[in-house]
Amino acid sequence: MRPVVPDKGGKDTYPYDRNSDLKKTFWTFKTGTNARKYFKKAAVPIADCLAVMVEIAKYNQNQLGVLTATEQAEIDAKLTCADGITNKIDVYRQATAPLMDNLGSFCSFCEIPVLSDFDVEHVAPKSQYPSYSILWENLLISCKPCNQGGAKGENPTRSFVVSDWLNDVEPTDESGYYDEIRKRHYIWPDRDQIAYRAMIPRLGFHDGTGWQLIPEATSIDTRQTYYVSIMSKREVYANIFVSAKAKKTERKRVIVILTAEDTAGFTSSVAATEMIDLCRLNTWRTGDSPKFDRRMVFRTKTWFTALGQLRTLRNAQANSPAEFDDAWTAMLDVASTAGFYSVWVRVFDLGADTDPNGKLYVARFVEDTDDAGRFPNTRTSKVP
Ligand SMILES: [Zn+2]
Repeated sequence: MRPVVPDKGGKDTYPYDRNSDLKKTFWTFKTGTNARKYFKKAAVPIADCLAVMVEIAKYNQNQLGVLTATEQAEIDAKLTCADGITNKIDVYRQATAPLMDNLGSFCSFCEIPVLSDFDVEHVAPKSQYPSYSILWENLLISCKPCNQGGAKGENPTRSFVVSDWLNDVEPTDESGYYDEIRKRHYIWPDRDQIAYRAMIPRLGFHDGTGWQLIPEATSIDTRQTYYVSIMSKREVYANIFVSAKAKKTERKRVIVILTAEDTAGFTSSVAATEMIDLCRLNTWRTGDSPKFDRRMVFRTKTWFTALGQLRTLRNAQANSPAEFDDAWTAMLDVASTAGFYSVWVRVFDLGADTDPNGKLYVARFVEDTDDAGRFPNTRTSKVP
């Protein structure tokens, strides 16, 4: 997972969390204070308040009786259908453009490119924690398989937080839940500098009975090549060396899994496992069309794309510095199109090559991709 700078950019063009009153308002409503009375005091536009109230109402559907007919009409005009308050107004979707400027066109969790359609992801789910439903700090980018259905979805729920983490003691307001989710559990790309180190991608293959990891040095042997993927079954095949001693490549079903690591601190592997489970980063959703979730297919393919680029770079470097520069620039474009930043960093890190000026490929990759058109705002202190 690529760690990112949390507050850089974006915030200035996303209006809602400037109004700290709104955050308090959510909780006030949730606990039953008169809505109109509060909003008369709030120093925020009425349109914003109404939008917020719709979000509140989704959580707590008995608060809107205090609205005037005019206000109700204003809400209705914002709704996309006529089926009332249970429909969503999605004010948070105004975060779409600044989020993409800030984070690039990649899922914040699985790192797959999201080129056309993506979810504005509520880290603490909006249905459970409405105080945070429009706050910039609670927003990331997600692909649909990470966010929907059996994956992250509405998790972690309030009841889960209370029963599993807090010994059945409810927090007094939503910040208590939020702090558990954001500060004490999971690995988050915008909060945890160790996001990359805590979840390392590794190449494995299926030996007929189960998945086996390939030794790291062997996994980046550039004589290995991608063969084919079968999307309907979500299978990827490649020509690989299955062990360090293998004399020739074999055609095997392969996979790149994320392993939860302890190297970044004694609790990091626990938090990483929580994150992997939350978004199902190492598995596929059950009960859906098998074509739906292609995250692991593309992550695995990208490993071999990176190997091919590494092979090209080495050959170009053996020829001339000019040829290397061309190959390097082309590689940057390939990488930013393919996504899966962690895979690229891992392959270059294990390769340990240095460029004609003696700089490690991996260091140069991290530096050269940290721009608006590639992988913007990477937090590089713990990468690799
Ligand atoms: Zn994703």
